[in-house]
Amino acid sequence: MRVDVLTLFPEMFEGVFGSSILGKAQNKGIISLNAVNFREYSENKHQTVDDTPYGGGGGMVLKPEPIFNAVESLLLPDPAAEQAKSLRPPRIILMCPQGESFTQKKAEELVGEDRLIFICGHYEGYDERIREHLVTDELSIGDYVLTGGELPAMVVIDSVARLLPGVLGNETSAVTDSFSTGLLEYPHYTRPAQFRDYKVPDILLSGHHANVADWRRREALRRTWQRRPDLLDHAELSAKDLKWLAEIKLENL
Ligand code: SAM
Repeated sequence: MRVDVLTLFPEMFEGVFGSSILGKAQNKGIISLNAVNFREYSENKHQTVDDTPYGGGGGMVLKPEPIFNAVESLLLPDPAAEQAKSLRPPRIILMCPQGESFTQKKAEELVGEDRLIFICGHYEGYDERIREHLVTDELSIGDYVLTGGELPAMVVIDSVARLLPGVLGNETSAVTDSFSTGLLEYPHYTRPAQFRDYKVPDILLSGHHANVADWRRREALRRTWQRRPDLLDHAELSAKDLKWLAEIKLENL
C-alpha cells in the first residue's frame, strides 16, 4: 500500500512513520508512507497557502490551488506503479471534524485499497471546492476539534496499516481486537499468577482451551454490555451468547 499525506507540517510524521510497527512495516516493504508539504505547490512567490474568508469573519481558509496541484502531481502516471498492477484511482481522504466518523469498519474497508492520499487541514478550514471537487472521502476521528488534520491522519493510517497482512507480528493480533469481532475484547492477564492480593482467574491457568475460549467470549460479552451496550445491537450473537448475556445481566442486578 502507498500512503501520501498532504500537510503543512511533514516533520510531525517523522517519528510516527519511522517508529514501532509502522517503521517495521515500511522496512519490510509492506507499506510506503510519504508526507508531502503542499506549500511547495503554491502558485505565488510567497508560497502562501491560505487567505481570509469571503464574506468576512475570523480565521484563515486553505486555498484550493496548492492542494489541487499537490494531489494532481501525486496522480501523475508513475510507470513503476502502473507496471506493478493497479490502475485504480486512489482514495483521496480529507481529514475534517464534519466528516464521516472513523470506525474499525472503515479501516477494514480502506485496507483493501492500494493507495490512499490524506489531506490535513489547518486554521479555520478548507475552501469548500476542495471538498466538492477533489476528495472521495471525508473522515472525522471524533466529535471534537483539533488544531490540524495531522493527528487525525496518523490515527487513521495507523489503524489501517496494522490490518495489512504481515504488519502485526505474533505478539499482536487484529482478529480478536475490540470492534473487529463486533464486541469489546476480553480482559488479558500475564505472569505472575498472583500479584499482591490479586489473582489471575483460575480458568486461565487450567490449560483447558475450550473452557478458556468460552470464558473469553463471556467476558467480552460482559465488558461490551457494561461499557458499550450499543455495540450489542449490531453484533452477531449465537444462542449461547444470548444465554450468557441473560446470565450476565442477572449477575449484575
Ligand atoms: N472550522 C472547522 C470546523 O468547525 O469544522 C474546524 C477546523 S480545525 C481547527 C482545523 C483542521 O483540523 C481541520 O480542517 C481538519 O483537517 C483537522 N481536524 C480537527 N478536528 C478534527 C477531527 N475531529 N477529525 C478530523 N480532522 C480534524
